[in-house]
Amino acid sequence: MEERTEGKKMNGAPEKITAVVLAAGRGSRMGSEIQKQYMELAGRPLICYALAAFQKSAVNEIILVTGAGEEEFCRREIVEAYGFSKVAAIVPGGKERYHSVYEGLKAAAGSDYVLIHDGARPCVTEEIIQAAIDGARQYRACVIAMPVKDTIKVADEQGFALTTPDRSRLWMIQTPQAFAYRLVYDAYRRMLSEGGDLDGVTDDAMVVERMTGGKVQLIRGSYENIKVTTPEDLAVAESFLKKGGCGDTE
Ligand code: C5P
Repeated sequence: MEERTEGKKMNGAPEKITAVVLAAGRGSRMGSEIQKQYMELAGRPLICYALAAFQKSAVNEIILVTGAGEEEFCRREIVEAYGFSKVAAIVPGGKERYHSVYEGLKAAAGSDYVLIHDGARPCVTEEIIQAAIDGARQYRACVIAMPVKDTIKVADEQGFALTTPDRSRLWMIQTPQAFAYRLVYDAYRRMLSEGGDLDGVTDDAMVVERMTGGKVQLIRGSYENIKVTTPEDLAVAESFLKKGGCGDTE
């Protein structure tokens, strides 16, 4: 069998790795007038931090998914203003996160691997991105995650504790989530165009698990790779960014 070198395909051609960065959410839990992805964080719009991390990383191209009608604003005020030269396309997203992901995946056609990242996670680092790329090469499907610190309970509809899953096996799932392109694209295409079960789909690994039955490897990331969702998250993310080198794994 032909030798396969890292970064090269079987025929010797270079692999193409694309990041899909999602910024098409309404951010309603932030309760602010200005959309969360454009809010200033340590002097720059929030979305710039994830884009800067991917710009510095080994990914070849970035697809930025924004709200419909915001493409021109993003091109001018974000991509050109901050010099994100790897951004190959800015595409409008959809109603739910999975619609936005599918739009991003379509725009990433021709890629070998794809990393899907919440633009609302500004503290992602080059190291985390590289771990996701390595995981996608090794396992074809992986997600960045961290073990939970708190005890988690499943509640009944009246708010009473029903069960307490074994904490040692619980992980908080973050992004990037990284896949062989055809695997995740086909899973999304089938789920959205062939009426797959969309109930409770909140991440990409779930789509691959449901539609292909394939295994998804969990790869340790950082407790600092938080998703900015509510106002108190802004101050936390800002403090991580100001201290530099988001990435503590302890
Ligand atoms: O809503 P949630 O917190 O799961 O959003 C995670 C990421 O997905 C955010 O970066 C958000 O902008 C993005 N998103 C999107 N399109 C949607 C909903 C969320 O791009 N319809």
